Amino acid sequence: MTLRQHPAPANLTALDAAVRVEGLLFDLADTLAAAAQRPIGRRLVSSPGRPEVWADDAADAADPRRWRFRSPTDPGSRRHGLHFAALWVEGRLLDEDTAPERHLDGSPAPALFARLPEHLRHETIRVARQCERLVLRALELDERETPVEGRPCPWCDGELILHTAGGKPPRVTCQTGPRCPAPVAIDERSRRVWEVAGLPALVSALGRALY
Ligand SMILES: [Zn+2]
Repeated sequence: MTLRQHPAPANLTALDAAVRVEGLLFDLADTLAAAAQRPIGRRLVSSPGRPEVWADDAADAADPRRWRFRSPTDPGSRRHGLHFAALWVEGRLLDEDTAPERHLDGSPAPALFARLPEHLRHETIRVARQCERLVLRALELDERETPVEGRPCPWCDGELILHTAGGKPPRVTCQTGPRCPAPVAIDERSRRVWEVAGLPALVSALGRALY
């Protein structure tokens, strides 16, 4: 988010991810608000004995828990940025403010938000996962496999692959398969695998293999 305020962002991938995540979440909040947010209450604003005139309840309209749609002249709740949108969407998933309540003048009001129907819950979770992938990829923390260049397996000369993923410890596999005699376990794809605890031994074996 702060990247946008700089004139020349150094990391265009991160900027692109930030802009896309923002758009996805803002659009999602629009969808959820259209489906689940109570319409703004109406109040009688004309004097007794005069023709009735009703107007939006200004206090209800100004409720800070509301998502505001944008208009050609007003960004609405988008002005509060991505973090606000993320928390607002989370509140809908957590069924916050779904109990009947009262207007500021004490009159009863229906709940500010309806509980999300199942298809919108799925949509919300799908968009959240998409945002997560975009961010992890921009930070290069997504799941990826990197060949270990110029350092073959010390036991069989096979190709070593470094596996990294956000939130998980790195590991290395040998592509040769179970024929590789390295003294480590075999993973679910029948490859010798050095989990994080075994990596120091692998590194020292790689060091010895250089001489
Ligand atoms: Zn090997």
